[in-house]
Amino acid sequence: MTLVVGVAFLLLTYLQVDWDRREALRQHIDDMQNLSTALTRQAESTIRDAHTVAIGIQRKLEMSGYGAENLHEVLEVSRAQLVTLRDVEGFTVVDAEGRPLLTTIQEPSAAYNASDRDYFTFHHVTKNHGLLIGAPIQSRITGQWVIPLSLRLNDANGEFAGVVLATLYIQRFVDFYQTIDLGSEGVIGLVNRDGTNLARSRLADQGYAFSVSRSPLLRIVNEDGVMRGSIVLKAMTDDVRRIYGFDTSAEYPILVTAAVSEEQAMQPWRNRALQTWALTGSVLMIFMSMAWMMWRALGRQGRMEARLQAMHRSLTSANHALEIMAGEDALTGLANRRRLDEMLQAAFSSTAAQGQSLSFVLLDVDYFKRFNDQYGHPAGDEALKQVAAVLKRHAKRSADTTARYGGEELALILPGAERAAAMAVAEAIRADVEALAIANQGSPYGALTLSIGVASGIPGHDMQAPADLVTAADIALYAAKGAGRNRVACDENSD
Ligand code: GH3
Ligand code: MG
Ligand code: MG
Repeated sequence: MTLVVGVAFLLLTYLQVDWDRREALRQHIDDMQNLSTALTRQAESTIRDAHTVAIGIQRKLEMSGYGAENLHEVLEVSRAQLVTLRDVEGFTVVDAEGRPLLTTIQEPSAAYNASDRDYFTFHHVTKNHGLLIGAPIQSRITGQWVIPLSLRLNDANGEFAGVVLATLYIQRFVDFYQTIDLGSEGVIGLVNRDGTNLARSRLADQGYAFSVSRSPLLRIVNEDGVMRGSIVLKAMTDDVRRIYGFDTSAEYPILVTAAVSEEQAMQPWRNRALQTWALTGSVLMIFMSMAWMMWRALGRQGRMEARLQAMHRSLTSANHALEIMAGEDALTGLANRRRLDEMLQAAFSSTAAQGQSLSFVLLDVDYFKRFNDQYGHPAGDEALKQVAAVLKRHAKRSADTTARYGGEELALILPGAERAAAMAVAEAIRADVEALAIANQGSPYGALTLSIGVASGIPGHDMQAPADLVTAADIALYAAKGAGRNRVACDENSD
């Protein structure tokens, strides 16, 4: 029972703590997803701004040609737009050889050439007219780390004529990301869907020159087509388990991930869980020790009871043994059954030897069951004692023996007494008991009375064994009962 309560308690605590953990985790996941969505919108709009200007440059050059006047016009327009685009480092146009045709960035060196850049190679060989978001590069003009956004330029024949390049300050993203507090292990990352890191709130050891294309997060985006979601995983870069939220852009092949360290994020939950377990532990300990103390007390009480019972049993049996040895009935003080048998045998032998008569008187209380029922067993005991006292008074000769035959039946042995004398004694006893006037409502006489059977005879002559005398007295008693009780009857056949 105690165990069941204990286990149930532990189980409840476990369920509560686990529920709390899942709630806390869900809350962090929601937060990270919402943050990543907002940051994706921000990155999208930054890219879109630069993209819009780059498209304008591309169209203008393709339509109006690469003449000096046109280039100048494009440069002026670009410079004007750049004023409001604070995240854009600048716009540059290079020709089919990678040489700068124009740039909003001051003073490109004479040796400037972009032909070895990845974006240049890409546009050279790919007819695709759309925007390429390239891997971060360190600007050859300013030394700044930037994200190159580029468009291919075609000549009138559709052949490669160069590249329009817009460059975004990575530091702007980083600064912005660092204003968001995600704890010391939190991280925000702007990533190309091909796995290229574009900007991170925490610069990894490898700088930007590492790809996360094998990250499970990108796998669920690119392979499972999950565009917005969450994942808990150990970062490849620093082995910290983080709760990631991510959202992808529908316009550009980018996504932003926002993550908190699982350990840091779940610390408040861990504290709560610890408190809950501590509380449960102490309650359980109190409960268990109380149960143990109760069990011990019960055990002691039980053992004491058992000892008392054993004592009582041994006392009872000792009493019984003593009683038997004493040959005396404890309640009435008369001879007990065993002594009666001995005395009857002795009287039988001695009277037989002397050829004397032997009388046996059997007395039974009338309606005694009803007496007990009405006045209670203790009152019955008391009445029995009074009847026994009367009986004793009438055992006048030394050889006379009074005994309790059993229950509410008493007996009297009268050695040497003939029937008439025995009948007289019996009648005197009956009358004396009646005279006691012990009320017995259950009896038609209204009082406690006796029925008595008398048997007499000369042993060895009229009967062969003491048992014959007892049987005869019993039959006489039965007759007295049958005749209406409160009377004496004798065994007619014996003489
Ligand atoms: P009847 O007139 O036929 O003898 O009726 P009865 O009720 O006396 O006879 P029965 O044998 O039906 O009941 C005997 C009763 O005597 C039942 C028993 O409880 C009661 N009795 C026997 N021994 C004792 C004893 O030691 N003390 C008490 N109080 N009652 C006893
Ligand atoms: Mg009886
Ligand atoms: Mg009786």
